[in-house]
Amino acid sequence: MIKKKLEPYSVLEKGKKVSFGNDTPVVIKGKGTAQLKEKVKARNVLYVDGLKHNLLSISQMCDQGTEVIFRSNGCTVRDLDTGETVIKGRRTLNNLYIFEEGQQQCYLSKDDEHWLWHRRLGHLSFSQIRKACKYQAVCGLLDIKIPDNTICKSCQFGKQTRTNFPEKEGTASKPLELVHTDVCGPFRTRSPRGEEYFILFIDDFSGMVWLGLMKHKDEAFEKFKAFKALAENELDHKIKCLRSDRGGEFTSNEFF
Ligand SMILES: [Zn+2]
Repeated sequence: MIKKKLEPYSVLEKGKKVSFGNDTPVVIKGKGTAQLKEKVKARNVLYVDGLKHNLLSISQMCDQGTEVIFRSNGCTVRDLDTGETVIKGRRTLNNLYIFEEGQQQCYLSKDDEHWLWHRRLGHLSFSQIRKACKYQAVCGLLDIKIPDNTICKSCQFGKQTRTNFPEKEGTASKPLELVHTDVCGPFRTRSPRGEEYFILFIDDFSGMVWLGLMKHKDEAFEKFKAFKALAENELDHKIKCLRSDRGGEFTSNEFF
């Protein structure tokens, strides 16, 4: 807290220190009462030289008969006896809760320094952050301690992998046991012979593909007969099952 805002103010003997998020001890120079609002005072406010912002201790606020409620967009300090709201704060874009009373600003630090650095450095592990501290590799990076609990929700999600797809069921154990087929087209550009459709036959067992060009969809059965003769002769197996997406081209009686 700014010294001139503390009234009454008393100088403290040397040696007393206070530590912040990064465990850096800072000397307390004095103590006093700060007027936060017309009727609201904060007692036992410490004056620390070199601190850039005025910080309000939540535990001290609670010890002085108020409750502090934090919400996603702001916070409220309420008097426990009367239930009256004594101060309201808003949350800034960099996640600080600010009490604004004219020129006077009190900041509440929300983030611990070590977690802030973990996020700033792209979720770098704490052992690597310690290394960066040791070699002074990052500008402005103070001596960051490894926190007791180093589990980061975002890191945990980032490390998760998706489970395998289940094993395919009902696959063929020999050639032509299962053949997949589909008709594609019509295409805007026709072949030199005027075909604008093609039919595919894929052997499930070997992955071999046969392709036939067609001028019309209703040539599908003719193409199938040609493919059947060719494939059965080539592979010395009989087609057991033909599987399609049940488009109209395969529902004609010829196929059954
Ligand atoms: Zn993380």
